Amino acid sequence: MATLRVAPKPEVATMKAAQISKPGAAFEIVERAIPEPDAGQVRIKVQACGICHSDVLVAEGALPWIQYPRVPGHEVAGIIDEVGSGVAVWKTGQRVGVGWHGGHDGTCRECRRGDFRNCRNGKVTGVSYDGGYQQYMVAPVEALVSIPDGLSDVEAAPLLDAGVTTYNALRNSGAMPGDLVAVQGIGGLGHLGVQFANKFGHNAVAIGRGSENAALAKKLGAHIYIDSQATNAAQELQKLGGARVILATAPSSKAMSALIDGLGPNGELLVIGAGPDPIEVTPAQLIFGSKTIQGWASGTPAASEDTLSFCLLTGVRPMIETYPFERVAEAYARMLSGKAEFRVVLTM
Ligand SMILES: [Zn+2]
Repeated sequence: MATLRVAPKPEVATMKAAQISKPGAAFEIVERAIPEPDAGQVRIKVQACGICHSDVLVAEGALPWIQYPRVPGHEVAGIIDEVGSGVAVWKTGQRVGVGWHGGHDGTCRECRRGDFRNCRNGKVTGVSYDGGYQQYMVAPVEALVSIPDGLSDVEAAPLLDAGVTTYNALRNSGAMPGDLVAVQGIGGLGHLGVQFANKFGHNAVAIGRGSENAALAKKLGAHIYIDSQATNAAQELQKLGGARVILATAPSSKAMSALIDGLGPNGELLVIGAGPDPIEVTPAQLIFGSKTIQGWASGTPAASEDTLSFCLLTGVRPMIETYPFERVAEAYARMLSGKAEFRVVLTM
């Protein structure tokens, strides 16, 4: 005769997550149930997550549609730990990342034309849904980036936003090998931009504030360093023939405005650093010499894979400071201080 046994109630497996509970609140580390992947999603065991200045959007509540509590983080590197139904290509145990591009609908006008980066209903990792400041996260398959062996988790993580943004902006700029390409700002974005400009075969100019950045700029691959505190950087660029592209990375609209006269014919100010103030320009500054100002945001997961492959081939690497996950508040403050050299990365 069978004995009736009452099975013990299964314990819900939990994990730690660093969340922002409301706009302006400090980070709090909370215990949460490990999330389950839905159809078309995978669960990632997070190994590393970069801290990006745009995480401020979540921490400060700059976007009214963000739902709280929210776990930020859009520079995620980890391992697929479970796959949802209908997921065929991605396998458990595979190394993957998730960047800024957190998903697209595949059906809007832009997606139907293959322009997934500008999807009308695009999702942003760590903004539209919980990101990588936690031990496990789920992500839709269209957001996944395969990470090649040869790049560590902490190296790959910042390349999934800061890396793809600079790489993709420059490779789509129209600048050719040998062209004068200036990178304004030697920081989280700029130190990667200088390396890419060098490896793309441009005449790479780094524009920084103060003479103390010259040695580092040269080491990163700048052929020329311009100190914007000691000289008029726009005039210095004109002495070199004028820039084909100025990749503007430091979030100072005033500094960007001051550089527009450094553009050569058909020159382009390529804006990826987001300051709050307007960029000031007169029509004449743009009309004579057919100059343009263009913004650029990130890239698709496929562009991120191109970025990682290129870095592996050429030796481009982010300079990083790592912090254990538990010290997230300190790490975030370090990023905000602007003193980090140059990307802050959490390790799990
Ligand atoms: Zn779309």
